[in-house]
Amino acid sequence: MTSESSFLQGARLNPEQESAVTSGARFLRVLAGAGSGKTRVLVHRAAFLIKECGISPYEILAVTFTNKAANEMRNRIADLCDAPVKGMWVGTFHGLAHRFLRIHFRDAGLDEPFQIMDTDDQLRMLKRIHKEMQIQDADFTPKQSMGFINREKDEGRYPASGTGMDRQTRLMQEVYQRYQDLCDQSSLVDFAELLLRSLKLFENNPAIADFYQRKFAHILVDEFQDTNAIQFKWLQALLGHDNALTIVGDDDQSIYGWRGAQIENILRFSEKYPETETVRLEQNYRSTKSIIGAANGVISCNIDRLGKALWTAGEQGEPVQLYAAYNEIDESKFIVERIAHFKSKGIPYRKQAILYRSNAQSRVMEEALLHARVPYRIYGGQRFFDRAEIKSAMAYLRLIALPEDDAAFERVINFPARGLGDRSVQTIRDAANAQQISMWQAASRLIEHKALSARAHNSLVQFIELIKGLQTTGQGITLSELVSAMLSRTQLVQAYAKESQEQRQAREENLKELVSAASSFNSITDFEQEDFLDPSMRDMAEDDGFLPIRPKVVEPSNDAKVPAALAAFLDHVSLESGEMQASQDSDAVQMMTIHASKGLEFPVVFLAGLEEGLFPSQMSMNETGRIEEERRLCYVGITRAEQYLTISYAESRRIYGEERRTRISRFVREIPSEFLKEIRLGSVVKPVYHARQQESSLPSGQPASAPNDGSVKVGDRVMHRAFGEGIVLATEGRDARMRVQVNFTRAGSKWLMANVAKLEVLS
Ligand code: ATP
Ligand code: MG
Repeated sequence: MTSESSFLQGARLNPEQESAVTSGARFLRVLAGAGSGKTRVLVHRAAFLIKECGISPYEILAVTFTNKAANEMRNRIADLCDAPVKGMWVGTFHGLAHRFLRIHFRDAGLDEPFQIMDTDDQLRMLKRIHKEMQIQDADFTPKQSMGFINREKDEGRYPASGTGMDRQTRLMQEVYQRYQDLCDQSSLVDFAELLLRSLKLFENNPAIADFYQRKFAHILVDEFQDTNAIQFKWLQALLGHDNALTIVGDDDQSIYGWRGAQIENILRFSEKYPETETVRLEQNYRSTKSIIGAANGVISCNIDRLGKALWTAGEQGEPVQLYAAYNEIDESKFIVERIAHFKSKGIPYRKQAILYRSNAQSRVMEEALLHARVPYRIYGGQRFFDRAEIKSAMAYLRLIALPEDDAAFERVINFPARGLGDRSVQTIRDAANAQQISMWQAASRLIEHKALSARAHNSLVQFIELIKGLQTTGQGITLSELVSAMLSRTQLVQAYAKESQEQRQAREENLKELVSAASSFNSITDFEQEDFLDPSMRDMAEDDGFLPIRPKVVEPSNDAKVPAALAAFLDHVSLESGEMQASQDSDAVQMMTIHASKGLEFPVVFLAGLEEGLFPSQMSMNETGRIEEERRLCYVGITRAEQYLTISYAESRRIYGEERRTRISRFVREIPSEFLKEIRLGSVVKPVYHARQQESSLPSGQPASAPNDGSVKVGDRVMHRAFGEGIVLATEGRDARMRVQVNFTRAGSKWLMANVAKLEVLS
């Protein structure tokens, strides 16, 4: 292929990158370290194929791991070659699998409209199954069942029965079978099922597989090191006789082993496809020398790796800053102050990211940000759509779209309370189980046969009328109007009447936010059903004669019609992770777990909670393999930073409801000292004898005062509730972040956070 093109001249690519972008190899693998331009190569390769090789944008299938990365990739390809964004096959594995299922639902054995079920619904259903099958938690918990089922699906397996299984496995398989039956009955598809089912779709329908193998001339996959068994099989199903596959990845960034990712997929790729051409990239274009030095130092402690040298021609930059916080509150306040500092230096909030190992760390951070009125946005984690009131509202919307959705039915049948107690709900459940029908249908039959108490009967009738009424209303109005109507008719807000004013207000605001989310969805999305097809497919579909093009309006099983917008909105909410929480472009600090930060980059990065037991996580600490995976995660975190990286840890942390003394993470110690600088706050440590001298000169009769007004001074005699009396030896920092060292008569010397310690200054 030519390298003289104007497209390539305009693109900044080094020779190795260019050779990958223009490679004519059918199987191409780019194996390279963080920030070396792998994603850039992938995007440019797509654009090169479109602009220079006459490939249509619809003949490219590009896959990555997060919605955010997929959006970025789609926009970058579109920008580079003025291609239409709409209809392009760029997405996550789940998103793309979902698209296939929406187009071929019949061939995939699904009813329309099927609905996507999240982990919460999954767990709820499994709890119910455990109860029904009388499985004790001592045997295994619903959560364990969920893990088992998801793992089986990730390995591409449906429930199995058979000999040779131990009792527990057999029982788990039975749970899996029951679960699968219930899902099928309610037309529910969980996340793992999206992939498994679309794989089965291709396996069972060779004509469909063949169609896509011909359609997609090029398959491009980013972050390939984290593909699991089913994802790789899924890609292979789309690989025909002559379409090409490009994969890019970094073995040092494989961080999903715990979820079944198989690093061999990338390492052994060339054994599977001997014609593979491999390109290696070593120059990092993202980070300063200090950051690369820190990252290299950490990752070199892993034994099991290919070993790549990563270098940068960039500037040295500031050393990585390390802050030892007194506790997690101090840590978050410190981070917020640093953010303000960078902002004052001209770095907007959206270019600053706080990364953490565990979602549980985000709450304290959020509080500090809220307090300081710094806007922020959380990706993943406790998403907007995961909040209780939003989930209930969504359950109503799901019922409007599909009354057979048992998970949604269970969630709101008696919420807000309408006098349908556990007994009545159990009666409905039993009837549904006995007749193998949905709870909605069972409820209708119970009403018909007047099988419930008068009170329950009336409540149930009202509930069913409520949903049916909303279905009818929903036909003539916009999505946001439907959401408003649902909120007012269900009186969802009233369900929280007993909560504190503050909580109620927060919930109310969130529900209002849902209305605006729906209205912005209204305006950004054109939800014609054919959108699942791209324009090129209409002709191909007609030629092939088997692609069902969906009708414009979805026909649910009852006689009410549901606007397509609602179905599209529900899908969107299930598949996107928090993307609608705040406007995409608003200037907000970016918060996410390190796992979710994969592939992204930010000028300023904070890595919080570098403590043994948190990062590396407690569970990983006894296994070499898992420690290495944690270390790769640390490498991912460090290499997200372009210019400034700040690492922090707390000497004491309250997490999962328990206060713990902590030790600094081994990963911090693995950073070569030349790239690391510890920062301490304005320290005013004074020698002890000096304090003693001051003690005698304290004015007598001075009233006891709260310490957080800054009135604790070296030499003060103080009283602490637990430790008793002591003398202040040193103070550090100021105001709310002031730390004091106190020598307690009984308990010895301790550092305390002045405003939390509630020290009383004695006269
Ligand atoms: P990760 O492993 O973290 O996913 P990556 O290998 O995918 O990283 P990219 O995100 O593609 O790396 O690139 C890192 C940064 O370097 C991007 O900002 C990219 O635009 C820039 N970059 C890559 N190659 C070049 C180049 N040849 N000239 C200038 N900038 C480049
Ligand atoms: Mg990348």
